[in-house]
Amino acid sequence: MFKLISRVFPERVTQGITAVYFKAGALWNVGFGTHSKSVSIAQSAMKVRIIPALSDNYMYLLMDPATKEAAIVDPVDPGAVMLAVNEEEVTLSAVLTTHHHWDHAGGNEHIVKLCKNLKVYGGDDRIGALSHKVGDGDKFKVGSLEVKCLHTPCHTSGHICYYVTSDAEGDHAPVVFTGDTLFIAGCGRFFEGTAEQMCSAFKKLSDLPDNTKVFCGHEYSVKNLEFSETVEPENSDVKKKLEWARDCRNNEIPTVPSTIGDEKLINPFMRVHVSSVLNHCNKTDAVEAMGVLRAQKDKF
Ligand SMILES: [Zn+2]
Ligand SMILES: [Zn+2]
Repeated sequence: MFKLISRVFPERVTQGITAVYFKAGALWNVGFGTHSKSVSIAQSAMKVRIIPALSDNYMYLLMDPATKEAAIVDPVDPGAVMLAVNEEEVTLSAVLTTHHHWDHAGGNEHIVKLCKNLKVYGGDDRIGALSHKVGDGDKFKVGSLEVKCLHTPCHTSGHICYYVTSDAEGDHAPVVFTGDTLFIAGCGRFFEGTAEQMCSAFKKLSDLPDNTKVFCGHEYSVKNLEFSETVEPENSDVKKKLEWARDCRNNEIPTVPSTIGDEKLINPFMRVHVSSVLNHCNKTDAVEAMGVLRAQKDKF
């Protein structure tokens, strides 16, 4: 089970960091991602705080409640990250970088100066402050949580998705941080790869358990679902999710997380083998359909 806690700065900013907050006022204005509220998804064995950044990016603070150890995914705005770390009273030990693009890795050099002894993980030598280069299947721990690296080249050649599980007792779902590979109802642009590689990446992600919570790098859901609707006008799951996503965005609520099971119902890029999607693309081959969909989406 998980519960949704809506947290909005500054109303709930704790006494302890009030001073820091005011000192960081300028930073807040430019960087504390005003596009969405900062929401926490808490499960018994792990907690993820969604921290908005820039115009539509998300950073994620992954926390192990048992040890109070934490990792930050794509900390483009280190000031906002440190505010959240202070408020959550956790110890930040690692940076999980999905890929080298500035809006994901651009804060790495700064955050290693703010917070000593951080391990910086990533799959690409172009990532700033990289200390632990990882490849497909590599595993490491954040507190008692296990993180498995999934190499998903295509958007960039060194893109890594991070799959996190806990072997603690209780009812909890794994989570995956998908950067710019898998978005809710969408996928990243093929900057350094092919349709075949994106198909392989999506296969790897769709093989994760259906209840896996998906945290992606950008808030693109409404636009993506509008595209999904043009691909499968008869898909009632797409219609429902689009209505829900519009409602969330009207209230500045993030549409993350999704689940792998949900993506199989609403994400055309994860449905390239389904007849309605193949027909829309006028193809019989899933890889070719992937290429057609991406080209259509680029112009959408
Ligand atoms: Zn990117
Ligand atoms: Zn991005």
